[in-house]
Amino acid sequence: VFQLSVPLNFLGSVYRELRQSLLDMETLFNLQKVNVTIKDKPDAKPLTLPKGGEIRFENVTFGYYPDRPILRNLTLTIPAGKKVAVVGPSGCGKSTLLRLLFRFYEPQSGRIFIDDTDIRDVRLDSLRRAIGVVPQDTPLFNESVELNIRYGNLDAPLEQVHAAARRAHIHDKIESWPHGYQTMVGERGLMISGGEKQRLAVSRLILKDPPLLFFDEATSALDTHTEQALMANINEILREKARTSVFVAHRLRTIYDADLIIVLKEGSVVEMGSHRTLMEGNGLYAELWAAQEMGMVDAKEGEGGKEEE
Ligand code: ATP
Repeated sequence: VFQLSVPLNFLGSVYRELRQSLLDMETLFNLQKVNVTIKDKPDAKPLTLPKGGEIRFENVTFGYYPDRPILRNLTLTIPAGKKVAVVGPSGCGKSTLLRLLFRFYEPQSGRIFIDDTDIRDVRLDSLRRAIGVVPQDTPLFNESVELNIRYGNLDAPLEQVHAAARRAHIHDKIESWPHGYQTMVGERGLMISGGEKQRLAVSRLILKDPPLLFFDEATSALDTHTEQALMANINEILREKARTSVFVAHRLRTIYDADLIIVLKEGSVVEMGSHRTLMEGNGLYAELWAAQEMGMVDAKEGEGGKEEE
C-alpha cells in the first residue's frame, strides 16, 4: 500500500498542477515543448504592476536551438495601457515573444521586464495569471459551454458569464444551441466552428480580465463583418480599463488603429510607429500593407470557409 500511494500522490499533484495550468491557459503552447526546468527563484515575489503593465525587452537574443537565433538583440517597449501590434513576415518571431514573456523559455541573453521588474525575479504563477491570451487555436475542454467560458474565472456569477459572451458576440449563438450554455463542446460534444471557438476564447478572456492581454491572430477565423464587430467591443473594453494589449496579426487591417505598431523582421525591430507614420516612412510596413490591399499576400482572406454571423 505504501509503495502504491507514492506514485498515486505524485500523479495527484501532477494532475492538480496540470489542471491549474489549464486554468491559466498554459496549454496554448504545447506543454511537451515547454522547458520544465524553469522554476521560481527561492526569493521570487509576486508580480506587481505599479506602472500599469509596461513590457520591455532589452537586448534579447533567443533561439529554440542556441545556434539558430530567432530573436536577435531585440529591444522594444510596449507601453502600459496601450494597444500595440506586432507584425512582420511569417516566422519572424512574433509568437516567440509571447512564449518568452510567459517564461516558457529563457532568453540566451538580454532581459525582459514588466514594470521594471525582471520577470525572472517574479513568481511564475503570478506572472502567468497576469497575462491573458486569445490564441490562434483555442483549446476547448469536454465540458459545457458555460464551463469553457468560466475557465477564465471559476467564481464569476452566471450573469457575468453571459455578459462576457455578449461582448464577445457569441451569446445569441450559444442560446440557439440545443442545450444553450449547458451544451457540451469538444471531442464528445457539439462540433463548433473556428470562429465560434475564437469568440469563446474572447469570452473567457473578458471574464478573466487580466492586466496584460495578448491576441495571437485571435480573429483570423471570423468573417470581416463579425471580426469588425468583435474588435469594436474588444477596443471598448481595452479603452475602458486602460489595459496593455498586444495584437499579433497577419492581416494589417485588423490592427491599423493600434497606438503603436512594431514591425519585426528576422527577429529584430525594423520599424515602429503609428499606421500613419509607418505608411509615410514607406518601408516594410507600407510594403506589406500595399501587398495586402492588392490581395497578393493574404491568402487567408481569399479562402473559403469563413463563417457568417
Ligand atoms: P507566424 O507569423 O507564422 O505565426 P511567428 O512570427 O509568430 O510566425 P514564431 O512562431 O515566433 O514566428 O516562430 C519563429 C521561428 O521559430 C520559426 O522559424 C519557427 O519555425 C521556429 N519555432 C517556433 N517554435 C519552435 C519550437 N518549439 N522549436 C523549434 N523551433 C520553433
